[in-house]
Amino acid sequence: MKVLGKHISDNAERFIKEFTSSLNKPFHFVELPESAPQWGRIGNNPGEYLIGIKTKMPDDAFEFTLCHEVFHAYQLAVGFPNVIDESENLPDIKEFCERLRSNILDLSADDAVRSYGLYDTFVMKRRFTQIMELAASEFAIINNQYAKDLLSIDLLLDMHNLDENKKQPILDILSRVRSDVFALYSEFHVIITENGYDSPKGCFNIMGYIINRIGLWNHCSIEYCNKNIRSYQRFKEYCTRNPMTI
Ligand SMILES: [Zn+2]
Repeated sequence: MKVLGKHISDNAERFIKEFTSSLNKPFHFVELPESAPQWGRIGNNPGEYLIGIKTKMPDDAFEFTLCHEVFHAYQLAVGFPNVIDESENLPDIKEFCERLRSNILDLSADDAVRSYGLYDTFVMKRRFTQIMELAASEFAIINNQYAKDLLSIDLLLDMHNLDENKKQPILDILSRVRSDVFALYSEFHVIITENGYDSPKGCFNIMGYIINRIGLWNHCSIEYCNKNIRSYQRFKEYCTRNPMTI
């Protein structure tokens, strides 16, 4: 099978067939320009999913990213939640909402892709390099509350994807020089483990907990089961209910 002119492996083909079979509308692959900020992106248009990807990267990274974005289309189709920026142009809030959504949804996307024997040593390596450089500088630039909040949720994904022997030294430095961030990350890590990130309801509970803990209900909402949840009270009402009855 070829996608955007590039050959993909049998494993990637199996993955794409499996996870596009339950999509609720057509999908198309499109090439992202080199100037795009992400390696891959999912567009949820009214009549189709547009799965965008850059083509100038190594083959293993290309098919990993492709499958990762296909999984995001699947997540949209089966009702995983979304975090919505309600701040009307506060750049920090916009960034935080995007990162919260993508970090939580990426946990199961990356697991799913790896379970098909697909690995990526290119995009992941860049992300790991960033976190390792941050740790090597003793998190010097993490010097305000916003940066701390953002790091606490970025670590959820970075630590999830890093090997145990690489993860522990980073956490040791963090706990020594930024104990407040370490405590917040550890708290969120427990919430992720308890709720499970591989179901729509688990992700909804995790996102709501984090928005509440950081105090962002005035600026963020969660889209879940065709509802827009905009307050802690509404979140508490919904997080205990069965999604089928919402
Ligand atoms: Zn993603």
